[in-house]
Amino acid sequence: MSMNSQGRASRADNIPGNADSIETFTGHRGLEQQEKLIFEVGDPSRTGVDFADPGKFDPAFGGLERHAPIGLPGLSEPEAVRHYSRLSRKNYAIDMGMYPLGSCTMKHNPRLNEKMARVPGLADVHPLQPQSTVQGSLRLMQELAHWLKTLTGMPAVAMSPKAGAHGELCGLMAIRAALEARGNARKTVLVPESAHGTNPATAALCGYGVKAIPADSRGRVDLAAFEAELNEDAAAVMITNPNTCGLFENEIAKLADAVHDAGALFYCDGANFNAIVGRVRPGDLGVDAMHINLHKTFSTPHGGGGPGSGPVVFSEALAPFAPLPYVVEENGAFKIKEHPDADDTALGRLTAFHGQMGMFIRALAYMMSHGSDGLRQVAEDAVLNANYVMASLKDVMTPSFDGPCMHECLFDDRFLKGTGVETLDFAKAMIDEGFHPMTMYFPLVVHGAMLIEPTETESKDSIDTFIGMMRSLTRAAKSGDTARFSGAPYLAPLQRLDETRAARNPVLRWTPPEQRAAAE
Ligand SMILES: *Cc1c(COP(=O)(O)O)cnc(C)c1O
Repeated sequence: MSMNSQGRASRADNIPGNADSIETFTGHRGLEQQEKLIFEVGDPSRTGVDFADPGKFDPAFGGLERHAPIGLPGLSEPEAVRHYSRLSRKNYAIDMGMYPLGSCTMKHNPRLNEKMARVPGLADVHPLQPQSTVQGSLRLMQELAHWLKTLTGMPAVAMSPKAGAHGELCGLMAIRAALEARGNARKTVLVPESAHGTNPATAALCGYGVKAIPADSRGRVDLAAFEAELNEDAAAVMITNPNTCGLFENEIAKLADAVHDAGALFYCDGANFNAIVGRVRPGDLGVDAMHINLHKTFSTPHGGGGPGSGPVVFSEALAPFAPLPYVVEENGAFKIKEHPDADDTALGRLTAFHGQMGMFIRALAYMMSHGSDGLRQVAEDAVLNANYVMASLKDVMTPSFDGPCMHECLFDDRFLKGTGVETLDFAKAMIDEGFHPMTMYFPLVVHGAMLIEPTETESKDSIDTFIGMMRSLTRAAKSGDTARFSGAPYLAPLQRLDETRAARNPVLRWTPPEQRAAAE
C-alpha cells in the first residue's frame, strides 16, 4: 500500500497495474471531471428560463430586428451550474493553497473585508446618487485617504486610479503638469533595469523617453550610473522600493536629494509597500508621488483581471496637480470636489466616477481590524517569512544576491546548470506538486529568475511544505530526473501548452464543427 508523507494510505494495492495508466470510459478521473466548452455542452433547444410567447407585436426597430438564432448556448439551470462548478474546480486559488508569486503579493483576503463590502448601505449605493444620501460612503473614502496619507507621510492622495499601472499614469501626469507649470516638461524618465514593465510603459505613454539604469552587483540602483544620467533633461525617476529583487534601496534618501537637486521629481512604485508599511514612511524618504496597490498591500482580492485599486499619494510639490475628484469636509458634511476652480492646476478626471468603492471598503476594513501596530506586524512577518524561505533554500538553490531580503527572495537558475532543466520546466513541475509557481523570468536583471513571495499570511507549516517540495524538486533535477520536468505539468487538466503560440495567435472564438469543416 502506498503511503503519503503523513503515513496515510494514498493508494490501494489491488489496482491492476499503475493507477495512472487506467483509462476511464468517461474521460473523468474520479472527482476530476472533464468539461467541454459551454457551446459544446449546450443545445439551443434547451433553456433555463421560460419566456411567455410575445404574441404578435410590432417591433419598433425599423426592420433591423434579428430573425435568426443568435447562437447562445442552450442550457438548463442545473447544466449551467454544473458547467461553472466543474470549471471552477480546475482553478488554483489563494483559497486553495499558497500562491508564491513574487511582486504580486497574493495573500489571504480576510472574510471580514468581504462582509463589510456587502453591508447593504455600502454595497447598494450608486455613484450618481445625491451626495446627501451617501454621506457614510464619502466619510469612508475620507477615512481611507487619511490612513493612506498617515501611513505614507504624504499630504495628499488621489483615490480614483483603478490599479497600480493606472496610478503610475496618474503620478506621471501630475509630474508632467508640475514641470510644465515651471515652464519645461523635460524629456526623459530614468527607470532601473529591474523595474516592472509598467514603469517604462507609463513614462512612454506620457511622452517621455526612457533611460534604463543598471543595477550594481548588490542588486540596487547603480548610483554612479544614475547620477550620470541625471541632467536637465530628466523629468523624473521611477524607483520601486523595496525593489523587484526584494531588496531595500538603502541609498534612497541620497538618491532623492540628487533628483531634487537636478530639478526632477521622484516617483516611487509602491507595489512592495507591504514590506515596509508601518515601519517606513515614503514621504520621509523624499518621494513626490507613489501608487499604493490596495489589492496587494491591503489585501483586497486581485488576479484574473478583477478590480484593483491604485490610489496615489503626493508630496507638497505635487499636491496642487493631483486629479479630481476628491472628498472634502465642510461643517461636518462631506462633498465631492468634482470641478476645478478657475485658477486650479488640478488634472481633470482619470475615471468616470470616484474609484473602486468596494476595494476602498475592504482596504479600510483590513486597516482598521489590524490597527497601526497590526499593520507594522504585516511588514515584519512578510519579511521574516521571505527570509525563512531564502535561508531554507539557499544551500540547494542559488540566491541572486548576498544578505537578507525584504518581503520576497530572488533566486536565479545557476543551480540548474548542466541539469537540462530550465526555470520554466521547474515551475511546471511545481504545478504537478499542487503549487502555483513563483514569479519566473522577472526581474530581468538575473538569468532565469525565480522570485518567491510567501507573504505574511502563510503559516510556518505551509511554508515548510513549500520548502520541502522545492528541495525535493531541486534534488530530482540535480539527480538527472529530467523527464519529471521536461513535459510537466503531467497532472494538470491541460498539460504543457505552447504558451508562445497561444500569446501570439490567440484563438478566442469557438467555431461550430460544421462551420470549421466548411472552412477547411
Ligand atoms: C503589480 C505591480 C505593478 C502594477 O500594478 P497593477 O495593479 O497590476 O497595475 C507595478 N509595479 C510593480 C513592482 C508591481 O509588482
